[in-house]
Amino acid sequence: MRDLWIKKCGDISYDEFEAAYLNNTPHCHYCGITTEQIQQLWEMKPKLTKRGRGRKLELERLAPNEKYSNLGNLVFSCYWCNNAKTDTFTEEEFMKVGAVIKEIWEERLGKNGLNKDYPDNL
Ligand SMILES: [Zn+2]
Repeated sequence: MRDLWIKKCGDISYDEFEAAYLNNTPHCHYCGITTEQIQQLWEMKPKLTKRGRGRKLELERLAPNEKYSNLGNLVFSCYWCNNAKTDTFTEEEFMKVGAVIKEIWEERLGKNGLNKDYPDNL
């Protein structure tokens, strides 16, 4: 969390930044995946992405032109949603994509943890 603040939100205090997220379990705004579930995916598949990106949630600006210090405009996004949404899709449009990605995560992770049917060929 502190890494993200240093990297993106240095113009507000860390306390302000943390307070905005303290009561939330960090999860992807679009597909809902949590940090813990991302770790499970990596445990299942140690080479999940090229160059190892995607291990942590990223900060996403809903309106891409706003500053990172506008906390109301910030959400977490997983690497996969962030990468696919780019600046091309609106939040509303991408929520539909996120719902499908969520289904896939649930298939892979199972509702209660690891799913043994995780595809071997990926
Ligand atoms: Zn996501």
